[in-house]
Amino acid sequence: MSDLKSAIDELVIANRILAAEKVCDAFGHVSIRHPNDPKKFLLSRGRAPELIEAADIMQFHLDGTAADGKGKPYLERFIHGAIYELRPEVQAVVHSHSYSVVPFSVIGEPLRPIMHVCATIGAEIPVWDPQDNFGDTDLLVADIDQGRDLAKALGTRTSVLMRGHGSTVAGGSLREAVYAAVMLEVNAQLQLKAQAMGAVKFLTPGEIEKIRARQNKGRPGEGFDRAWQYWLRHAGFPTDE
Ligand code: MN
Repeated sequence: MSDLKSAIDELVIANRILAAEKVCDAFGHVSIRHPNDPKKFLLSRGRAPELIEAADIMQFHLDGTAADGKGKPYLERFIHGAIYELRPEVQAVVHSHSYSVVPFSVIGEPLRPIMHVCATIGAEIPVWDPQDNFGDTDLLVADIDQGRDLAKALGTRTSVLMRGHGSTVAGGSLREAVYAAVMLEVNAQLQLKAQAMGAVKFLTPGEIEKIRARQNKGRPGEGFDRAWQYWLRHAGFPTDE
């Protein structure tokens, strides 16, 4: 029970951080896999992330049906369930419409890591286009079939863009997923600037692998942890170390 309570508290903080860093605005959401039941995940009821409190957190089965909690769920909860279903190692998922990322979902020019701290977003970032398998839609991931199609496009990667809509990132921990979501937006801002100036030399796949291997060692006070402490303060929470 205490696992669940601390997971909910961390998830509330993650929502506030994503709002403070402007990855989420009125829209966007973050979930975590249930700490005691891998067949469920935790996600707020449909609400702007900046407003979310512990009482808003609901529990869902991987097919998107509600298992516990009250309120109107997010329509796009299927994004989360489908990724947890396909990727047993994924512990957290962030979906957002952060603005600098969206151009890369529509121009056929890939978003790729341009700066060392952005390596976490992954060497290859596909674009999921609902037009391919579903024709004209409202672009939202409105059922589990669309969720599974998006999860398939993500495959084993960290990030996937969604045409004319936004992006989704998956992490092995909540801190990693929040970090990747923030850095996806940062990388997009930098890449837009750099490409306006000329041809870009991106990080190589080998460089990306080395940076990620170092981050995944998870030394306290480094990498995801150090960023988390900074973002805690930025979002108005006391640091926890
Ligand atoms: Mn969306």
